[in-house]
Amino acid sequence: MAGLIDLIEDAPENQGLDLSYEHYRELVETLNRYSRAYYTEDNPIVPDAQYDRLYHELVDIESKTEFRDADAPTRRVGDGILTSFAPVAHKVPLMSLGDIFHDEDLQAFNKRMLEAVGSEAEYCCEPKLDGLAISLIYEKGILVRAVTRGDGTTGEDVTANAKTIKAIPLKLTQSEVTGEFAARAVPEYLDVRGEVFMPRDGFEKWNEAAKQNKGRIFANPRNAAAGSLRQQDPKITATRPLTFNAYYIGEAKVGAGDSLPDTQYGRLQWCKSLGLPVNPLVCVAQGLAGMQAFYQKIGSLRSSLNYDIDGTVMKLNSIALQEELGFTAKAPRWAVAYKFPPQEEMTELLNVDFQVGRTGVITPVARVKPVYVGGATISNCTLHNADEIARLGLKIGDSVIIRRAGDVIPQITGVVLEERAKKEGQLKDIVFPTTCPECGSKVEREGDDVAYRCTGGLVCPAQRRLAIEHYATRPAMDIDGLGEAIVDELVSQKLVSTVADLYTLNESQLATLTFENEDENGTVTMRVLGETIAKKLIANIAASKTRPLNHFIYALGIREVGTNTAKILATNFKTIDDLMAATTDQLCTIPNIGKVVATTITDFLSEEHNRSVIARLKELGVAPTALEQVSEMDLSTKPLLGKTYVLTGTLERFTRDQAKELLEQLGAKVSGSVSKKTTAVIAGAAAGSKLTKAQDLGIQVLSEDDFVAFMAEHGHNI
Ligand code: NAD
Repeated sequence: MAGLIDLIEDAPENQGLDLSYEHYRELVETLNRYSRAYYTEDNPIVPDAQYDRLYHELVDIESKTEFRDADAPTRRVGDGILTSFAPVAHKVPLMSLGDIFHDEDLQAFNKRMLEAVGSEAEYCCEPKLDGLAISLIYEKGILVRAVTRGDGTTGEDVTANAKTIKAIPLKLTQSEVTGEFAARAVPEYLDVRGEVFMPRDGFEKWNEAAKQNKGRIFANPRNAAAGSLRQQDPKITATRPLTFNAYYIGEAKVGAGDSLPDTQYGRLQWCKSLGLPVNPLVCVAQGLAGMQAFYQKIGSLRSSLNYDIDGTVMKLNSIALQEELGFTAKAPRWAVAYKFPPQEEMTELLNVDFQVGRTGVITPVARVKPVYVGGATISNCTLHNADEIARLGLKIGDSVIIRRAGDVIPQITGVVLEERAKKEGQLKDIVFPTTCPECGSKVEREGDDVAYRCTGGLVCPAQRRLAIEHYATRPAMDIDGLGEAIVDELVSQKLVSTVADLYTLNESQLATLTFENEDENGTVTMRVLGETIAKKLIANIAASKTRPLNHFIYALGIREVGTNTAKILATNFKTIDDLMAATTDQLCTIPNIGKVVATTITDFLSEEHNRSVIARLKELGVAPTALEQVSEMDLSTKPLLGKTYVLTGTLERFTRDQAKELLEQLGAKVSGSVSKKTTAVIAGAAAGSKLTKAQDLGIQVLSEDDFVAFMAEHGHNI
């Protein structure tokens, strides 16, 4: 005869659900491990979505079996408490909330409330703040204790730390404002519950600083808030940007002449009148439609808020009805947390591709097993650079946490190390290519630069394509209609290999151009450009010939030269030839142009290939218009800019350092060796090989007297 478990397992709704006790235990232990990392160590090892999935599976199994182990997370509210803080028993337990994810669950909740109330229910709707729960005890208006939720019945005493949070009043005072629900006296006793959380801007600043100082980086604002509140040293907590919102009264003994409002909403306003911050989005809503509208509204506001929320909380507004319904072992029956779809999910890193950008930067791109997160299916995401890969300690085959919040581009935020044990032997290191994946040129990393770059320049088809696309963009030469698909085709058909070739195209070549066109649904069809568009495009290309010089400079795609720098250059140089004749030192005299940018510009403009492209552009009629000149270069005091001198022998009237300084003040460079580039050698007594070399190369030699006279000519009388 089949046992009870066998019969349950055979039921169609249980297909795929493992009802064995071994599996039940495995779930309990895994969830307890996750909870400990999350609550006690503030260092989650899996995304919430993964925890929630396993938790709901456990609830499901318990509802279909008789397994009720005492250590199952379904028996408790939060998790253990840190031993370092004194444990405090809550007089009234701090409960959790039942969570739901779908509209049907909300309908079911509303139906239960409807049955209890007998008519359409009124709800107090609140955003679900993503921080940690705290209970604040005020005696005669003075904050005497702050306790974390802990396991719901016992929490940790964090009074000293909570006192550093400016949003938590140390003393309750009645506000001048007298609203319908305002307190008429400071309560004798108040146990108010609320959320301590870290606003996003503070969190980002914190992590940015931690990255620089190699400090601890928090996975999200929730962990940052929990970690900060549970610091041994309140001085550290005081430096963390924490804040607080009240959301529930656990217990209150009101002051003489006062009474507690009889709704949740009224009570929150009552708290507010005493100086306790309440979230401004809290409102009253009628029935299911009211809750649905609130959920929608908060969902659309979510990304613009300066704090993280992970859903909404719907509470029956009437306190009398709340009391009638009471609590389950874990949560109130009269409230529910209607959560948003997860912004963090787990998936697998399948591979890493390397993409080449316009300036040759090689960007690693993660290919992941498609996963639905933050409202979109993600199958790839940028890994930024090699340092980021090293920081994450990523390997191909790893289970990774992917995060997509609002419109922010998806990111891999961590590796699920727990999963590594299962993958032994299957993981592969990510190897950065030493040659460009597009053109095979060498890949290099310069100095402190975090980026690896392809050294192929315009030989590299990827860089060529992107350079041409960049040339056509609006802040550059503004060639309307010359987008990615057409450029791709022009390059692959070898009609264009540098930007100069654009000006050699004719209508008939363009009219027959076939290219891929992708519509909004991602459907790709082949299209022929056709005569009308070809004609327009040719006209647009021709019109670009006389764009202002700043557009042209920006269009060249010089690294480090954005629209601002391009504008500065164009107001200091009338033509591209003038700019090409400038030396690095000359460029450095322009305010806002530093050595690095100046060197990048002169390197680019002296590069043979770039010079020939610019020359061809001119031949083909590209004649950028000059901007009004506001010369900011102060050349009058630097007459020796671009000149190099060498000092040798012993000078009588000054030391070598003094002579060097005089020359440098006039803009000259002083070098230690003689070459063809040397302007002149200043030779003192007993000059040796440098003098001989200068003579061999036919370089001008100045005696000490000549030098003194030369200095006098430039206003330095010695
Ligand atoms: P919960 O976070 O889902 O909801 C209860 C909590 O919501 C309250 O304690 C309170 O702090 C907060 N809250 C915010 N706004 C509120 C409001 N207006 N009114 C009332 N309460 C409000 O439940 P929980 O028991 O604190 O935590 C369970 C959740 O924690 C799981 O769903 C999971 O996402 C996460 N978790 C994750 C891991 C992990 O490893 N990633 C482990 C354990 C728990």
